[in-house]
Amino acid sequence: MTRFPAVFVSHGAPNLILYESPVREFLAGYGDTLGRPSAIVMISAHFVAKSPILTGDLAPEMIYDFSGFEPELNEMQYPAPGDPALAQRIVDLLGNSGIEAGLVKNRGFDHGAWVPLKLMYPDADIPVVLLSVQTHLGAAHHLDLGRALEPLRDEGILVIGSGSLTHNLREFFVGGHSPDADAPEWVAAFQDWVYGKISGDEIEDLVDFQTQAPYARENHPTIEHFLPLFVALGASGENSSVERVHVSGDHGVLQLDAYQVN
Ligand code: ZN
Repeated sequence: MTRFPAVFVSHGAPNLILYESPVREFLAGYGDTLGRPSAIVMISAHFVAKSPILTGDLAPEMIYDFSGFEPELNEMQYPAPGDPALAQRIVDLLGNSGIEAGLVKNRGFDHGAWVPLKLMYPDADIPVVLLSVQTHLGAAHHLDLGRALEPLRDEGILVIGSGSLTHNLREFFVGGHSPDADAPEWVAAFQDWVYGKISGDEIEDLVDFQTQAPYARENHPTIEHFLPLFVALGASGENSSVERVHVSGDHGVLQLDAYQVN
């Protein structure tokens, strides 16, 4: 069985899937690069809950959790099966690590999950289980979630954190930035800091990003889109290496980096 990487991808705006862009091109080729996993565990920034919960449906429904975008997005389907047995196993794995988790029914794929999945694995024939983020528990907790998931990588299971490297939506919508703008200084400084900490394996500093990183609050007024990165990093295990596998931006203020934990 191939040990799979754990990855962090930025999912951008819901309509990322409709138009050519560097990040769309990256995601559309990334599934082939990674290969075919036996199942996918996805931590989406759009699945926020008080405690870790796993989706337990056999046939997850679609969630169109956005408004003001192209109507055809609301027709899109991603009919991948769920995997309730895997979901229960993850509940047990987390429990063994001292993290109380549970299953939820009737909770389908939000766009933080289906937009990248539809590009990465368009055949929708690989089982997918979603795991929620707990914004109020911060980065260290999500590193712990990743640590608990790490054994799954040896079973050919792909762990994907889906969020955004930077995520100031107010600046995105009304900040007056042009679509192809470069990252402004306050965004680039944060992005470079993250890259430096990950490259230097200074994960403790990264966990403390809200006090240490330049412009942390400006780039993440709320932190749910940054937390999936920590789940991927937490799943690193021993002798791992982390590489940045994609960099591009949207309106300058959404930086859409992807990281791969090998
Ligand atoms: Zn999002």
